[in-house]
Amino acid sequence: MAVGEATAATEVTKVRIGVHPQKTRLVLETTKAFPYQIFLLGNPYRVVIDLPDVSWRAPLRQMKEPVGYVANYRFGLFKPGNNRVVVDVTRPVRVARHAILDGGSEGNTRFFLDLEPVTQQAFNQVRAKVHSRQWAAPKVPKSLDIEPPARTRRSDGRRVVVIDPGHGGVDPGAIGISGTFESHVALKAAHIVKRTLESSGRYIAILTRSRDIYIPLRDRFRKAEKAGAELFISLHADSINNPKIRGASVYTLSEKASDKEAEALAAKENRSDIIAGVDLTQQSDPVVVDILISMRQRRTKDESAHFARFMVDNLGKSVRLLRNTHRFAGFAVLKSLDVPSVLVELGYLSNRTDEKLLKTKKYRTKISKAILRATDAYFERKERLSKS
Ligand code: ZN
Repeated sequence: MAVGEATAATEVTKVRIGVHPQKTRLVLETTKAFPYQIFLLGNPYRVVIDLPDVSWRAPLRQMKEPVGYVANYRFGLFKPGNNRVVVDVTRPVRVARHAILDGGSEGNTRFFLDLEPVTQQAFNQVRAKVHSRQWAAPKVPKSLDIEPPARTRRSDGRRVVVIDPGHGGVDPGAIGISGTFESHVALKAAHIVKRTLESSGRYIAILTRSRDIYIPLRDRFRKAEKAGAELFISLHADSINNPKIRGASVYTLSEKASDKEAEALAAKENRSDIIAGVDLTQQSDPVVVDILISMRQRRTKDESAHFARFMVDNLGKSVRLLRNTHRFAGFAVLKSLDVPSVLVELGYLSNRTDEKLLKTKKYRTKISKAILRATDAYFERKERLSKS
């Protein structure tokens, strides 16, 4: 692949945080120097470092408590050719210094960034400033992540289903007790689901992402709309404080949540864009007042609920489910007006048994077969209704 080829050999080997009386220093140890860009985001306070295609040899660890002004950090692919480090900070800060100390042929290069505390008012003033070194936004061929659009009910009779592996890249999602990433579990499951659906000969399954990369939530369902999909299935794995809770669950969209847990889950899943270091102040959802649109929405919601029912029935025959397992809440990724959508939590990474199961091919195959049966049942019902 041509994208980022020139810098692909750069490896990030270590991430360090140093606490000093008036500053917190973040250091990336790398094998080579690289161009970069740094900017600040508010609400919540974050520092974003963009860098080219690099490979991460440094392990990602979740921080239990803040170190200096750093509450947590994560890294990964943000878009093709553009890796990203997102640093959650505990308060308004400014970028006081930044530099690369080139290790030359020794390969011991260090990038550092000093964060100093500022008042909220001062933050608002420095916030727009972008710090960079030889940074040019990567040129990305448009075709790279977009698949050709298909028409609903293609001439060969196969239906288009979009499978959406949750999270990815700079957004790892939940992290399991033994370090399993939700984003990786979801991607592996999605690949098997795609193969299972397609080998039936009845479906074309399109993935919203086929590798470890971040995709904005709304781009996921837009991809389904563009592809003329008739179903959108978002795959996730949850994590909560109670390590005993386990089982799969199925969710659909609703403004009013079915219960507190579903509401909290949607709030967590909706943080994906924030986690990836996206400035959400630029976006706003248009208020839907059009009566035709609300009719479309209702039809899509009803269809989603039918599919969710088939999912619960079929998953329940193969794997353990949570109680009251079809729940609903305001999941941003399920907001397509036209494509019936469900979100499936495949299990809990915070539960030892579920985490172990989710890592096995056998379990993922079980799930994919259940999804195939549910998809068949859903479209059989649709055919029956269209004939009567
Ligand atoms: Zn998730």
